[in-house]
Amino acid sequence: MNPQTVIRLKRDGGALSGDEMRAFVSGVVEGLWSRGQIGAMLMALFQRGLDLEETHCLLKAMLLSGDTLEMRGIGVPIVDKHSTGGVGDKGSLVLAPLAAACGMAVPMLSGRGLGHTGGTLDKLESIPGFRVFLTPKEIRKQVENIGCVIAGQTESIVPADKVLYAMRDETCTVEHPALIAASILSKKLAEDLDVLLLDVKFGRGAFFEKLEDAEHLARLMVNLGRAAGCRTEAWLTRMHHPLGRAVGNAVEVEECISMLKGKGPRVLADFITEQVAGMLVLAGLCPNEEAALGLSREKLANGEALDRFIAMVKAQGGDARIVDDPQRLPQSLHVREMLYEEPETVWVKDVDARKIAEIVLDTGAGRRNADEPVDHAGGLSGLACVGDRLEPGNLLGRLHHSVPAREEEWVSRLLAAITFSSEAVQPLPLIHGRVT
Ligand code: URA
Repeated sequence: MNPQTVIRLKRDGGALSGDEMRAFVSGVVEGLWSRGQIGAMLMALFQRGLDLEETHCLLKAMLLSGDTLEMRGIGVPIVDKHSTGGVGDKGSLVLAPLAAACGMAVPMLSGRGLGHTGGTLDKLESIPGFRVFLTPKEIRKQVENIGCVIAGQTESIVPADKVLYAMRDETCTVEHPALIAASILSKKLAEDLDVLLLDVKFGRGAFFEKLEDAEHLARLMVNLGRAAGCRTEAWLTRMHHPLGRAVGNAVEVEECISMLKGKGPRVLADFITEQVAGMLVLAGLCPNEEAALGLSREKLANGEALDRFIAMVKAQGGDARIVDDPQRLPQSLHVREMLYEEPETVWVKDVDARKIAEIVLDTGAGRRNADEPVDHAGGLSGLACVGDRLEPGNLLGRLHHSVPAREEEWVSRLLAAITFSSEAVQPLPLIHGRVT
C-alpha cells in the first residue's frame, strides 16, 4: 500500500481501515516508511484524531508488531497494574510481590523515568546487581517460580511502540489520548493478561493535570482493554503531592522495603493494598472488596509479600542484603537535613509535586533525555507530607546529592515548595474515582 495514499486520506480527515492502519504500523517496523512519512502520519493522526475503531486497529497492529509473552497454563490469574506516572510513584515495587503473595501472577514490564516522572526500572537498578533485562523465557520461569517479575520491555516486544514513541517525542505528537492509549495498552496486553488495573493520575505531578483529560484517557483505555478480552478497570487518582516521603531511586527502594515490613507511609501502603484488593476482585479470587482487602492486608502484615520481594530480587541477580542493611544501596556523598525552625506549631498544607520533581531532576536522580544516566543515590527522603503536624526542630526533608555548589539553591527551592497552615489539615484521599 502506498504510504502517500494512506497519509493523504488521514490528512484530509478520512478514517483509516484496518488494512491501512496495519500498512502504517508494518511500514514503521519494517523500515518501509521514511521518517518524514512516519512524522507526517503522526501529525495527521494527532490533528484529525482517531475514532474508536481506528484506535482499536492501531492498538492491535502495534500489539502484533512483535512477540508477546506466553503466560497460558500458569494456573493463576495473570494480572498487572499500570500507572500513568507521577512523583514518588514507587507502588509497583510493593504491589507486584503483594499480588503474588495473594495468589496472582504478575509479569510486569516497566519503563524508565523521563522528565518529571520517575521510572520503576531506574529504582530497581539502584539495587546492586539487579538485572532488568530478561528474556521472555526467563520472565515466564520466574513468574512460575515466584509469582512476580518486574523487567524492562525487550527489543522484540511491541517494536512499533519503540519507534513511534521516539518519533512522537520528536514531532510533538505525544499528548493525544488515542495515541497514548494504543501505546500503553499495546505493551500491557503483550503480557498476556487476564486483568489490568490502570492507575490514571491527574494533578500537578501527573502527565495530565486536568481531571477531565485523565478521565477521557481512562474511559478510552478501559473500553479498549475490555474489547481485547482483558478485564480492565481504571482508577483516577490524585497526583498533586509526592507519594510517600521519598523521591528518587535508592531512597524509594528503601521506603518500599519499609512498607513491606509493615512500616513506612500508611497512606501509600493503604493505597497499594486497595489496588491489590481491586485486582483480586477483578480476577474473581475474592467475592467482594472487603474480603479482598482483608487478604491483601494480611499478606502485607504477615511478611509474605516481603518474602516474595526478596525472592524476586535474588532471582534477578540483586543483592537481597539491602533488605536488612539499606546502607548497601547507593549512598550520596552529601545529605543535608532541613528542619522546621519557626517557633509555632503548624500543619503541612501543601507539598508541590512538580516543584519537588524539578529539584530531584536537577540533582541528577531523574533524566530530561531518554539516553541520560541517572544518579541512583540522589533525591529526597523523610519529606514532609500534607497533614503532618510540625513542632520546631522537626524534619522537613533530607536532600541526597553530590553537588555541594548547588545545595543552598536546592534547599531554598525545597522550602518554597512546602506551605503551612496554623490549623490542622486533612489530606484529600488519593483515589478520586473509578472507571469500570
Ligand atoms: N506512556 C507510554 O507508554 N506511552 C505514551 O504514549 C505515554 C505515556
